[in-house]
Amino acid sequence: MESAARTAPAVIVAIDGPSGTGKSSTSKAVAAQLGLSYLDTGAQYRAITWWMVTNEIDVDDPAAIAAAASKPEIVSGTDPLNPTIHVDGTDVAGPIRTQEVTSKVSAVSAVPEVRTRITELQRSIAASAEQGIVVEGRDIGTTVLPDADLKIFLTASPEARAARRSGELKGADVNATREALLKRDAADSGRKTSPLAKADDAVEVDTTELTLAQVIECVVTLVEEKRAAA
Ligand code: C5P
Repeated sequence: MESAARTAPAVIVAIDGPSGTGKSSTSKAVAAQLGLSYLDTGAQYRAITWWMVTNEIDVDDPAAIAAAASKPEIVSGTDPLNPTIHVDGTDVAGPIRTQEVTSKVSAVSAVPEVRTRITELQRSIAASAEQGIVVEGRDIGTTVLPDADLKIFLTASPEARAARRSGELKGADVNATREALLKRDAADSGRKTSPLAKADDAVEVDTTELTLAQVIECVVTLVEEKRAAA
């Protein structure tokens, strides 16, 4: 299987959608199964948010965020079996998942200078992935990689998304999780620059009634169909 992946042409897969739709688990598994690299763009926005918080930049001050946007060095490891994220050489995989960063990331990622910086980084990572890459986020199919070979937009009901997220957060209150998640979606969908949106040519997959294994199988099949047609 590995040798088949090696001889296949590089393929770029964009997977977008709101939180709790199974984006990360699906993207990692699809990349691992097909021998592709993997990029979690949400982790990059969380990393720059973590840096802003750590350096006491006021996240409600877009001008201050814009002025600091080019300062942190953000490095993403793209092995789907061991994705990593470092800021100025520090491993921030844990700290970027705190409640504080989660509650501030939408404000930071709405600042155009932040998006320009992170989008450039994402494009250069995608361009250097020799076997191809699965890139997950909110604006990958619409803005970052509009020429991706395959675009997927994952959705699920708010209830299913909140239940999944509170499961991940080990017993967090489902209602509170649902409210926080809807608030973040509204901010991500409503921002001016590069909002969360489905590309016109994306395949929409509603994961509400599907198991993770079914979603993975569906996306793997779509990628294989694309490769066969190429
Ligand atoms: O995917 P995750 O929940 O980790 O993303 C965290 C946040 O990063 C999102 O709520 C959004 O504000 C931002 N983001 C973004 N564009 C992307 C990926 C994530 O604005 N492509």
